[in-house]
Amino acid sequence: MTVDRAVVIVGAGEAGVAAASAIRESGDHRRIVLISEEPHLPYERPPLSKEALTDETPALKTIRPAPWFKEQFIDLRLGWRVQFIDAARRSLVLETGGRADELFYDQLLLATGARVRTLTDAPTGVCYLRTHEDSVALRSRLSQAQRLLVIGGGVIGLEVASSARHMGKEVVVLDMAPRLMARALAPDVSNVITELHRDGGVDIRLNAGSIDLRQTPQGMRAILGDGTVYDGDLVAAGIGVIPNTELAAQAGCALENGILVDEAGQTSVPGIYAAGDAAAFPHPVFDRHVRVEAWQHARRHGAHVGRAMVGTPAPYSEVPWFWTDQHGVNVQVAGLAADCDRTLWRGAGPARTAFHFSGNRLVAATTLNNGRDMRPVTNLIAAGWQGDPQALLDASTPLGKLAARLLAEHTAATAAA
Ligand SMILES: Cc1cc2nc3c(=O)[nH]c(=O)nc-3n(C[C@H](O)[C@H](O)[C@H](O)COP(=O)(O)OP(=O)(O)OC[C@H]3O[C@@H](n4cnc5c(N)ncnc54)[C@H](O)[C@@H]3O)c2cc1C
Repeated sequence: MTVDRAVVIVGAGEAGVAAASAIRESGDHRRIVLISEEPHLPYERPPLSKEALTDETPALKTIRPAPWFKEQFIDLRLGWRVQFIDAARRSLVLETGGRADELFYDQLLLATGARVRTLTDAPTGVCYLRTHEDSVALRSRLSQAQRLLVIGGGVIGLEVASSARHMGKEVVVLDMAPRLMARALAPDVSNVITELHRDGGVDIRLNAGSIDLRQTPQGMRAILGDGTVYDGDLVAAGIGVIPNTELAAQAGCALENGILVDEAGQTSVPGIYAAGDAAAFPHPVFDRHVRVEAWQHARRHGAHVGRAMVGTPAPYSEVPWFWTDQHGVNVQVAGLAADCDRTLWRGAGPARTAFHFSGNRLVAATTLNNGRDMRPVTNLIAAGWQGDPQALLDASTPLGKLAARLLAEHTAATAAA
């Protein structure tokens, strides 16, 4: 089948769907073909490690209801995998169940997301978590298990640990790193999260060294570098993701920690764009290319690139933001916390906020059960605010008010310089 002047989007996750929606909202009437190798209506991934494991009757949370795609004249191809791109002919080949098809595109968006990194030399039966099927399988196997070994103390591993405790399971988390969520959190916050899990009954083992996993007649055994043995009847691994860049590479797009794009989401190959978890984009606030693996970013970057594809480019300066829920605590992080060299806390109770500085510059913030601080502190990070860190700690003034004043002073000082 041939489609002329079509916009073709590969990947119907948050980024792909948001791009399709933004293209339609802009009044562009070209044909949109949205291709997903997954068989389901596009769905949200965050519940997969939370409610989908713990709720009595979990339901797939779709990004848009089925009729929406028809109403928007979006040709949704579920269960089709794009195998090959011919950038010179502006065409691609897709396959489903032994059938192949070729589409011609005017513009192509690669919203191919990421896939789980897997353990090398591990016995079969280790659970991973990226898709609806993964979540259904993990839920079913957890229901039969007593003791879960989680390999990897990142967001997904810790959410699974928290959900498993909620289900009454014994849980051990093993991580080679010296602290939890080391890529995403500042060291002080990692310590708080470690305490949170220990208080929640999770056995946390950091600095685990190499982990040798073996199948035993009773289940699974993890042998650490120092010889310590942990037995469990189920292993779930959350050791990060790998961006799906193979199609982009095959089409000739430049790669660097993902598919390299400019501020409009354009790759190095004319007519091909990328967005979401798969794309590394230039961030004006952090002054380098970053690749963000988070729900809000995928939606906003997808929509941004969709708008840029129809000719309304604008700078993309969204401060990265993600949330995670563990043991009933809502954690939100804005900015790049791994960039910080010091952390200061505002408040000391269960609801508090951490500011992360690199020198005197605010580069990130974390809220614990204190999401209302997120908007004002994100505005400061976006503005590149720097100054006396103590100015943010005056708990007698609401942060919104304080941040508005500091922002106004910062803007005036920047304008005068
Ligand atoms: C279990 C889990 C929990 C999470 N929880 C949180 C959270 O609490 N907070 C938060 O901020 N973020 C969370 N995230 C991250 C967030 O969900 C992702 O960052 C976001 O969904 C990425 O969207 P995307 O559209 O870029 O990619 P994806 O959602 O990965 O979508 C890409 C799609 O492209 C498809 N595809 C790839 N190649 C092809 C091809 N060749 N042909 C056809 N289709 C293809 C893939 O199969 C996939 O369906 C979580 C993620 C997971 C897995």
